[in-house]
Amino acid sequence: MLICDEYLTLASLDEAFDAMARHRGRCRIIAGATDTLPWAREGRAGDVEVPVLIDVARIPELNARRVDGTRVRLGAAVPIQRFLDDPALAKALPVMPQCAIWFADDQIRESATIGGNVINASPAADGTPPLIAHGARVELAAKRNGRIVRREMAVEDFLQGPGKTALESDELLVGLDCEALPGYGASFEKVGHRRSLVISVVCLAALVKLDATKQKIEDARLAIGGIGPVPQRLTEVESFLRAGPLTAERLEQAAEMPVALVASRSRQEYRREVVRGFVLRALMTAVRNAGGASLLAPELEAAYA
Ligand SMILES: Cc1cc2nc3c(=O)[nH]c(=O)nc-3n(C[C@H](O)[C@H](O)[C@H](O)COP(=O)(O)OP(=O)(O)OC[C@H]3O[C@@H](n4cnc5c(N)ncnc54)[C@H](O)[C@@H]3O)c2cc1C
Repeated sequence: MLICDEYLTLASLDEAFDAMARHRGRCRIIAGATDTLPWAREGRAGDVEVPVLIDVARIPELNARRVDGTRVRLGAAVPIQRFLDDPALAKALPVMPQCAIWFADDQIRESATIGGNVINASPAADGTPPLIAHGARVELAAKRNGRIVRREMAVEDFLQGPGKTALESDELLVGLDCEALPGYGASFEKVGHRRSLVISVVCLAALVKLDATKQKIEDARLAIGGIGPVPQRLTEVESFLRAGPLTAERLEQAAEMPVALVASRSRQEYRREVVRGFVLRALMTAVRNAGGASLLAPELEAAYA
């Protein structure tokens, strides 16, 4: 059980930084608490006591979301459910709703935040490959010498290993700045021990933009989680896809390319097989969602459906 002496719900960034300074070394930040509560329960040795819990989920800046031309700004405390029920977000970030559908259940999605998912830095978190595919950058802030100072970096650079990020102890994740990619066909693939209400073993986000003829991939974005300590963008596959015509044979070649990247220590052969099938299915779906034709023979199409 998680025990705390004080539970602080803060209304501004300033208040949050003051509370963090006041309770340094004896506090923990929470947003939706959907990682924190299971973490505390898993401390099976007994109760986990955190003297002060600092809840940042109601800070307006962390809740704001804005689609602005080519950019989308997401507050760190935006719940995963918003990707399903905010049409502007769904249009600008086409892979996020597909990810959200497979993320936990309705109740968890209302609490679980996109920022908590990033900070938790699970190698197989569902939220991070879609963010990486959308070129997301984290916005971090701290209060130093009485002033709020900010910095930003790419999500790939921020995630440093399982449970490890570049967040400093006096910093908060305030938001994520993503590239809006309306009109891209999207697909999110996930495999776990079960299909829903489960943490992924491997997950993949794919975004594809076709040219006017719908015969060529003009742009492709792919990012994968669960095959190594951090999620990664598949830039070589993206370049390969952009370099030639859109054919079934080339999609199959593209699906073969990331197999060698699988570095997870557990279930390596299984993960390799999954990756091959995943990339092919994700690309087929993304191409179709971008307005392209089905490319594989019907029996192969059915096998990967
Ligand atoms: C039943 C269940 C199903 C789940 N299913 C999935 C799933 O399908 N896919 C998936 O990826 N995850 C899943 N999860 C995990 C979890 O829901 C997500 O990782 C979620 O996004 C975490 O967000 P949160 O706001 O609840 O995190 P919290 O528990 O509040 O925080 C997580 C971590 O981030 C820190 N933190 C939070 N916000 C900030 C901030 N703004 N600045 C600095 N630090 C911060 C906290 O200190 C903590 O270390 C599931 C969890 C449960 C309980």
